[in-house]
Amino acid sequence: MTEKFNETAGFVPADRIATLGVSEILQIGARAGALKRAGRPMIILGAGEPDFDTPEHVKEAASAAMALGQTKYTALDGTPELKAAIAEKFRRENGVVYGPAEITVAAGAKQILFNAFMASLNPGDEVIIPTPCWTSYFDIVQIAGGVPVAVPCDGAQGFRLSAEDLAAAITPRTRWVLLNSPSNPTGAAYAEADYRPLLEVLLGRPQIWLMVDDMYEHIVYDGFRFVTPAALEPRLKDRILTVNGVSKAYAMTGWRIGYAGGPEALIKAMAVVQSQSTSCPSSISQAGALAALTGPQDYLAERAASFQKRRDMVVGALNAIPGISCRVPEGAFYTFASCAGVIGKTTPSGRVIDSDRAFCAWLLEEADVAMVPGAAFGLSPYFRISYATSEAELRSALDRITAACAGLAG
Ligand code: PMP
Repeated sequence: MTEKFNETAGFVPADRIATLGVSEILQIGARAGALKRAGRPMIILGAGEPDFDTPEHVKEAASAAMALGQTKYTALDGTPELKAAIAEKFRRENGVVYGPAEITVAAGAKQILFNAFMASLNPGDEVIIPTPCWTSYFDIVQIAGGVPVAVPCDGAQGFRLSAEDLAAAITPRTRWVLLNSPSNPTGAAYAEADYRPLLEVLLGRPQIWLMVDDMYEHIVYDGFRFVTPAALEPRLKDRILTVNGVSKAYAMTGWRIGYAGGPEALIKAMAVVQSQSTSCPSSISQAGALAALTGPQDYLAERAASFQKRRDMVVGALNAIPGISCRVPEGAFYTFASCAGVIGKTTPSGRVIDSDRAFCAWLLEEADVAMVPGAAFGLSPYFRISYATSEAELRSALDRITAACAGLAG
């Protein structure tokens, strides 16, 4: 009896989260933050958010909403005004037509993914996820009772999934394929020609649905033409969920508004999940998102151009370091560089760089630069740099990495 009491007195996590931990990105951020507070000149290249501020007209719209008393619960999965603006966005920018019943709004694209998997996965259902990928995909699928199936895609294939690898990963339990373009963490994007063969495979597999995460749609470079599968293949549209949000495009990460377009039955099921978690997204944030989507759009290209300048600087500097190599990403604000050429080397302090985790830990502790190892995203030996930070900071960070690597021996 007593033993049982003791056993249950402590907290025992549910099976569904027992194997999950706090994200490695957050852990690195916490360590870097602690070192910074202790007085170290830390440069943090870990965070996945734009350094720009939310546009003024968005903030003003949110203030006006508060003043007008838009401070109550809203419709469950988005106000009619915001849904209409999202439908118009999909039509205008993507060439996809969704009616209001085919649109849902949630507290971030993360909640959209969560709602969709909770609404559709039964225990053991598989979700094919090309890796490296955003760390949350695996954990959300697992919490929802599904099984994430990693398909490794290395730098040699542009970090993109091939039709052969997709076909080989499919089993009778496959429920979803999840694609992200441009990608966090690699910045790789799927052009129409990259998508076509994948969509061809899915056309012949009517039981499999496709989820696409278009969060970084507006951050593309060198004239890259962004496309989304629902526009490319109308025959698949009734089993595609197109996920997007205002976090990255409009520098609104803290506002927590994400949205999706998809078949009505799925959207309805997602609303059931949302109705028992958050009830609705924040009314004030929805007013801000409405202003973002219906207001001026010209600054999106200006911001992308500014990111492109930083990308060029980062890629150029990384490729000049012996042992490091980095492909030129098509979008997002990340580079995913290989550190294969420094594995096995020894630092002046006697550390052996035996993995990408060791490489990042060494630069964090001894060069005051925080980056995330590829292992956190499912592919080693690589490291991710988020260059959504000032050019001056990036320059110093790159100088530090270059100087540190020049001191490696062996
Ligand atoms: N998808 C990708 C690929 C991301 O990188 C992120 C944020 N890091 C999200 C979705 C979630 O964005 P949010 O919840 O802020 O809308």
